Order: sequence, then structure tokens, then C-alpha cells
Amino acid sequence: MNILRNLLKTNANRNVFALKAIEKRNHYNDVNNKEYLPFEKKKYERRHGYTPHYHTKGLLPRVKDDSVLPLCSIPQRKKPDPWNKREAIFGQNDYIDILGDGEIKPHMILKNVPFWLRGFRGNEMKTLQRKVAIFRHFRWLRPQKLRCFNRSRFYAIFSRNYNKLVRDDVEHFVKTLGENSVKTDDLDSYNEDWLSVHKGRSSLVLFPKSTLDVSRILSYCSTRELPLVVQGGKTSLVAGSVPISDEIILCMSKMNKIESFDDTSGILQCQSGCILQNLEEFVGQHQYIMPYDLGAKGSCQIGGNVATNAAGLRFIRYGSLHQNVLGLEVVGANGTVLNLMSSMRKDNTGYDLKQLFIGSEGTLGVITKVIILCPPKPQYKVVMLLSLNSFKCLLSILKEAKSKLGEFISAFEMIDFESMNVVVDNLKLTPPFEANIYALIELSANDSNLLEAQLTNFVEEGIADGIIKDGTYSSDIHVMNKLWALREGIPEALLKDGYCYKYDVSLPLNHYYELVELMREKLRSTKAVRVCSFGHVGDFNLHFNVTSKQFEPDVLRLIEPQIYEWISDRGGSISAEHGLGQRKNNYIHLSKSREAIEIMFSLKKLFDPKLILNPGKMLPDWKKA
Ligand SMILES: Cc1cc2nc3c(=O)[nH]c(=O)nc-3n(C[C@H](O)[C@H](O)[C@H](O)COP(=O)(O)OP(=O)(O)OC[C@H]3O[C@@H](n4cnc5c(N)ncnc54)[C@H](O)[C@@H]3O)c2cc1C
Repeated sequence: MNILRNLLKTNANRNVFALKAIEKRNHYNDVNNKEYLPFEKKKYERRHGYTPHYHTKGLLPRVKDDSVLPLCSIPQRKKPDPWNKREAIFGQNDYIDILGDGEIKPHMILKNVPFWLRGFRGNEMKTLQRKVAIFRHFRWLRPQKLRCFNRSRFYAIFSRNYNKLVRDDVEHFVKTLGENSVKTDDLDSYNEDWLSVHKGRSSLVLFPKSTLDVSRILSYCSTRELPLVVQGGKTSLVAGSVPISDEIILCMSKMNKIESFDDTSGILQCQSGCILQNLEEFVGQHQYIMPYDLGAKGSCQIGGNVATNAAGLRFIRYGSLHQNVLGLEVVGANGTVLNLMSSMRKDNTGYDLKQLFIGSEGTLGVITKVIILCPPKPQYKVVMLLSLNSFKCLLSILKEAKSKLGEFISAFEMIDFESMNVVVDNLKLTPPFEANIYALIELSANDSNLLEAQLTNFVEEGIADGIIKDGTYSSDIHVMNKLWALREGIPEALLKDGYCYKYDVSLPLNHYYELVELMREKLRSTKAVRVCSFGHVGDFNLHFNVTSKQFEPDVLRLIEPQIYEWISDRGGSISAEHGLGQRKNNYIHLSKSREAIEIMFSLKKLFDPKLILNPGKMLPDWKKA
């Protein structure tokens, strides 16, 4: 009861205070109140040093007392004179070819302007270009500020350079390719890249089944000036195969026929949409292997591999695709079929044009068929995992392995402790022992006795010299698969941390691990969860990764573009095997000279004059490097 009484009492008190406050406010708001004026006067005098003279007698004066019209009416708008002097001379200098035959247009004489800026109306793009050029010099603003420009830049590139896809276009494709080869709904998975970072807005995916289909599509797109992006297995880690804007997606997955295999020479001919793992299994039945192997082999296609010049695990033994691809069939941007299908290893007749398409990332033409040389399957294989104290020990082991096991090495991989931790934490895999640096080595040969003898000799010497701390090796397929799973699971495990900043670079071996240590120090007090690295150390190729729970602009600002500049200063390459795509295209000048980039632009214009193939990828947006 007491509590209730107190409550009522406090409520009553509160009401009294509220009433008093309202009375006080009304009192001062009342203009007729005599106390009001001295209060206001005092206030204005104190603040502004004058006494205000308010009009307090009702409404402001009107024209007539009973009228509601204001004193002045709105002035009448004067009609502009279209024939005045200023209007008459507007554009008098636009026609530059006054004495010529009308062929020269203003955009043709613009120099030092990127090709995609030439001939734009207005100066909006020029302003944007200037901004981009200026902001490139302010390190602390990059890359965020540059990214801010991307939306308007892409708008300018796409809406002004290309035509919009209309219903008639879709109907044309349905008529020429058939309904099953045209998809217009549920396209999210085609628009988003493997890392789920870049997303396009394409509304049309085409599935050609033959070279003729590809040729028809390209010739139509070229006439209509519709941009398109070629999509293989969509495992590109630089978002090369997803649209930037609303390009048509040319999905090669239905071009998956193996056409022939010669089991004497090991020459395989197939369509470009064949999945690498299927090819590996097919040639395996004939006792051959593919000359390259990737972690993404279950999804990536041979056409995508050739277009990115993919390297992977067997590079150290069999070399690059430039060496192993013997012939290609390519459809040019205007639909012309270019037959480069030679299966000869030696062919010195003119320029080797197929090499231009290897690593061209779908910017010069669409690869429709591939002829590739497969090496014979080694009879005996051993996989070895070594525990080492430091990266210096790894370099000693690499040197020893090259001299003692040289011809047997088919892969030489480095995994650091942080990379091993990520597969332990996120995939629940367990390595046989702990180490600061792991070396994963695959050896293959036909003579098992010779290999075993040399391997034993190599391991014993390594242990005696104190370089090898611990190790295991096996030729049992299950154990070998388990050891490889530790390495191949890293990219997938990294994504489970949240967000992954990926860098695939080449570095001279004396700077190889320096980059990781430097970045670890730099990112120590940030929101980065892990700074780790692994890679094909035998090919000087480092996969450097940083993870955080979600995308953190502050972390990115500390990594890019400094990492590329650091690598460039030490003579490395900013992209070892993944290509440039839309993630790294604007940094190409850090790995290639200005003259080389100029020639690349000339080639692009020669092969694809309307710039419809994979716009905004591989080549930089501005010419000046
Ligand atoms: C887990 C994982 C591991 C990886 N490991 C490696 C590795 O060890 N080594 C390595 O080099 N890469 C690696 N990659 C990257 C990727 O797998 C390769 O770049 C691969 O070659 C891409 O093939 P894709 O079929 O997926 O091509 P996409 O991703 O579909 O396309 C890549 C580029 O090629 C173009 N393209 C595709 N098909 C054609 C065609 N028929 N004609 C013309 N252009 C075409 C596209 O337009 C795009 O520019 C890895 C990726 C993942 C996800």
C-alpha cells in the first residue's frame, strides 16, 4: 500500500511541475502580455545590440484590404533569342576536316587519350579521366578512391560505347541457337565470381554447342556492337570470366567433346569446354597424363586454362602451356574462324599466332578447340612431406633436390605454418607433424629402384646436415592423396575465415618469403585474422593470402597497391599464373613496359576493332602507364 501511495504522490508531483512549465511557456508566448516585450527587448539588445520593430498588426499589407494577392506578381519569362551571336557561333570549329573528304572526325586526332575515351560527347569523361590520373598519385587514397570512380567509368564505357541488349536480340539468338542454348532468368551464379566479390548484371547467357554457333553469335554481336564475356569453368581468381556490367555471357560448358586421342604420340584434340579432370581421367586410361594440374581441376575447362595460360603443379616438370599446346581453333571478334589446328611439334612457318591467344584472357578471340601434347604416365610416384625450421632451409632443400632428384621432381610446393593452421582449423585435417615451413615434393619415374635409392640418399643427407627436422614419404595412393589434400585444401579453407585477400605473384627466391614477413609485421595490429603463404616455390610462384572476418577497407589499404609496387621494385611479376582479369588490369604497368602495353593495345584493336570481347579486363583503362 505504501509503495502505491508513494507512486501516486510522485505522479501527482510530476503533474504539478508539468502544469507549471506549460503556464510559464504560454505566459512568454503570449504577445499581448506586457512582460513579454521587455524580455524580448532585453534579449535582442543583449545579443544583437538593437531593438526589433515587429509588425504586430495582423496580416502583411495587401493590394486591396480584402484581397489575398501578394504585393508583386511573378515576372514574365523572356523567350531566349536563338539567333543571337553566341548561339550562332556554337560548334563553328567542330568540323575539322573542312578541306578534306569528310573522313576525319574529331576523335581521330585526339592523342594521349585511352582508346575507350576517344570520341565521347561532352567533357564528363575527360573530367573523370583527369580525376583518375590525379588520384593514382596519392597512395593513401588508393584503391578505394579509384574504385569510387569505377561505377561512373563503367557507365561511360558501356552505355556510350555499346548498344543495349533488346528483346529482338534475344529472339534472334533463340532462333539461331535454339531455346535450350539461351538462358535469361536465374543468372546469379553466372554473374558472380568464384570469390563472391565481383558481381555483374548480365541478363543473357548463351550456350554454344559448336564452332559454328560461336561464329554466328560473334558475328551478330559485332554487327550490333554488343559486348560479351567468355566463361569457362568460372574459377578465375581475378574475376576474368564474369561481366563487369551487362555483357552477354558466352558459357562454353556445352562444347565438351573429346574429338581424338593418339596413344602413340599422346596428342589430344578436344573442344574447349572439356573439364580438366575429365580429360585427366580420359588420358589416364591410355597411360598418359595432362601436362598441368590445378586445384580447380574439377571445374576449370581446358579453354579457360589456355586463355589464362594456367600453370599449376606440374609446371616445374613439363613447362607451360606455351610449350604443350600444339594447335588451337579460335573464333575472331567478327565471327571469322581462325584455324591454327596444327598437331606438329615443329612448325616454323611464319608467326606462331596460337601463342597470342594463350594467356589472352578472352580478349582477342574465343578458343573453341585445343590440341595438346600429353606426357606418358609415370609408372611410379612418391609424395614426400618435410618439416623445416625456416625458409632458408627450404632454399637449401630446393637446391639439393634439383641436383640429386632433378629429373624426378614433378612438383615442389612450400606451405608455411599459418597455411597449415588454416586447413587444420577450417577443414579439420591433421598434418603428420608440426613445422615452421613444410616442403611438399612429388617425384615420379618409371624405374622405382633408381628413384628410391636417390630419395633415400637425399633424405639421409638432409637429416645429417640438420636441414630436415622431420619427414614422411609414401607411394601409397591413399597416403599421397592425404598429403596433397593438405596443400590443395588451403584455398577453400581460407575462404571459411570470412574474407580473403588473394595475391598470386612471382618473386626472386631471395625476396620470396621476405614479403610475407613484412606484411605480417604491417598487418599485426589490424583486423586481419591470418597472414599466410604457400606456393609453387620451384617456379618462384608465391600465393600470398590475408584473411579477415569480413571485408576491411583498412586492411586492403595497407596491402594494395604497395604490395604490387614492392614486387615490381624487386623484379617480380604481379601475376604469376592467375592473369589480370578485372582485379589487376590497372597494375599491368608494374610488370610490363610502356612500349609493350602500347603493342598490346594495337593487337587488341587489330583482333577486336569494336572492343566487344571481354571489355574492362586484362588491359588497363588508361594508356599512360
Ligand atoms: C581452388 C583453385 C585453385 C587454383 N589453382 C590454380 C593453379 O594452381 N594455377 C593456375 O594457374 N590457376 C589456378 N587457379 C585459377 C583458375 O583455376 C585458372 O585461372 C583456370 O585456368 C581458369 O579456368 P576456367 O575454365 O575456370 O576459366 P574462367 O574462370 O571461366 O575464365 C578465365 C578467363 O579465361 C577466359 N576464357 C575462358 N574460356 C575461354 C575460351 N574458351 N576462349 C577464350 N577465353 C576464355 C575468360 O573470359 C576469362 O578471362 C585456381 C583456382 C581455384 C579456384
